[in-house]
Amino acid sequence: MIKTSAVLKKNTTYRFGGVCNDFYTLIDKTELDMIKNLDFNKDFFILGKGSNVVFSDCKYDGIVIQNKMENIDFDFSNESVNVDAGVYLPNLSRYLKDIERTGGEYLLGIPGTVGGAIRMNAGCYGYEFMDCVNFITYFDTVDKTIKNITRENIKYSYRNTEIKNAIILSANLSFIKEDPIKIQNKMTEYSQHRKNTQPSAIYNAGSVFKNGNDYFAAELIEQSGLKGYEIDGVKVSEKHSNFFVASKDAKSKSLYKLVKFVKEEVHNKYGVLLNEEIIFIGDFLD
Ligand SMILES: Cc1cc2nc3c(=O)[nH]c(=O)nc-3n(C[C@H](O)[C@H](O)[C@H](O)COP(=O)(O)OP(=O)(O)OC[C@H]3O[C@@H](n4cnc5c(N)ncnc54)[C@H](O)[C@@H]3O)c2cc1C
Repeated sequence: MIKTSAVLKKNTTYRFGGVCNDFYTLIDKTELDMIKNLDFNKDFFILGKGSNVVFSDCKYDGIVIQNKMENIDFDFSNESVNVDAGVYLPNLSRYLKDIERTGGEYLLGIPGTVGGAIRMNAGCYGYEFMDCVNFITYFDTVDKTIKNITRENIKYSYRNTEIKNAIILSANLSFIKEDPIKIQNKMTEYSQHRKNTQPSAIYNAGSVFKNGNDYFAAELIEQSGLKGYEIDGVKVSEKHSNFFVASKDAKSKSLYKLVKFVKEEVHNKYGVLLNEEIIFIGDFLD
């Protein structure tokens, strides 16, 4: 396991984040023993691709562990797929197409890792990641042992999975056999839909707010007249009101301010308190 000093903005899709002097990259299973020596009484953060995270631009004093173990293999004994937590979701999606399994087409457009998708219970187009999970292998940061937990024993819901004190290491997943042409067609359809409805090639972390049982956050934001609203280089996307996009030199504080402002406006207008899907880490106050 390599310890370095890293600039967190290089490890998130928003390109926000200051320096972290305790940045560990987990590349191989043989390094797991070294995790046990880390001091988990300090602040720590487990990082995937940083596609749902907003770090403050100040220095981060805790430990960051990035899981970069990226192995995928097919288990012929029970027709399941073993994936390391650092596997990039679009790569998993393509792997599933190659082995002619359906259920992962939607992952092509989610730029995160398996670990992040489990923690966030990532989903779209009617899919949720936890639906394909059989069991998860994780490192427990309290008793410092490696454990397996089956899906039946995990509490999860829309954009949230609760596995306490866990560094997710890998997962065992199941998918259904399908004609590869049908799989490719679905992948193309979903990609096209994203292209048409979401901003591309601009710094963002997907949906800022979760949807509610009886509302879409994007609709409330748009109907509050906030489409295109900007604070210091961060703005509500013109293409999708629940995506807030940052310009190259913007600061994470501006995103924080924009999120707070949009929440207040929607609350004043509709009495709905929007709940963030993106995760703010650190200090954002002036
Ligand atoms: C353009 C774009 C489109 C997106 N579209 C979608 C979408 O359609 N649906 C959707 O749900 N999300 C979407 N997202 C958000 C994001 O990609 C997902 O939430 C993704 O699952 C996050 O994965 P990550 O590896 O980047 O996690 P990170 O952002 O690095 O971390 C997210 C959370 O997961 C935890 N975590 C990460 N890895 C581990 C691990 N190994 N062990 C324990 N905890 C871990 C982190 O501590 C943090 O709490 C989108 C983002 C972007 C930028």
